[in-house]
Amino acid sequence: MTNDYTFIDFDGVVLDSEERMLERKYALGFQNHQNESEFDKYFEYTNLHPEEWDYIIKEAKVINDSVEIIKELEILKRKIAILTKIHTFQEMKMKIEILREKLKILCPVIFVPPGIEKHQVIIPNHQLLIDDSRKNVEKWIENGGRGLIFDKSIENNTNEKVKSLNFLIKR
Ligand SMILES: [Mg+2]
Repeated sequence: MTNDYTFIDFDGVVLDSEERMLERKYALGFQNHQNESEFDKYFEYTNLHPEEWDYIIKEAKVINDSVEIIKELEILKRKIAILTKIHTFQEMKMKIEILREKLKILCPVIFVPPGIEKHQVIIPNHQLLIDDSRKNVEKWIENGGRGLIFDKSIENNTNEKVKSLNFLIKR
């Protein structure tokens, strides 16, 4: 292969933090996940209550052995990086602390700020993104990348979806 990187999403791929965030948001009365402004309000709330991130990230569970697989890819010297959206500085800080201190993942971590898309931070250029958001994957592909949707609940991998990061080891 080339110098291409494989970019791995964090929330909903490495840890189940995506569904935990939605759970907390819902519990606080922000129950319409289609409404962007509800997310803004919820993330404003987390700035006043940073302990929300303890629940969302610190206590999150690893999805389908993703952490072990990433460590194995690091040992194999594969070019991988975590490409993750953040909404607040507290979230950014906690993600780094968890990745480095608790999970012992050492690969580069690239943060995507609010209002910016992943393909704007990294120019896709045929590189692979694995992300549980169909929208992120579609935009990545539209902008010249290769993409796979991560779906932990499917039975078997397809051309479009993978259920674990394991296939990256065998490539
Ligand atoms: Mg995600």
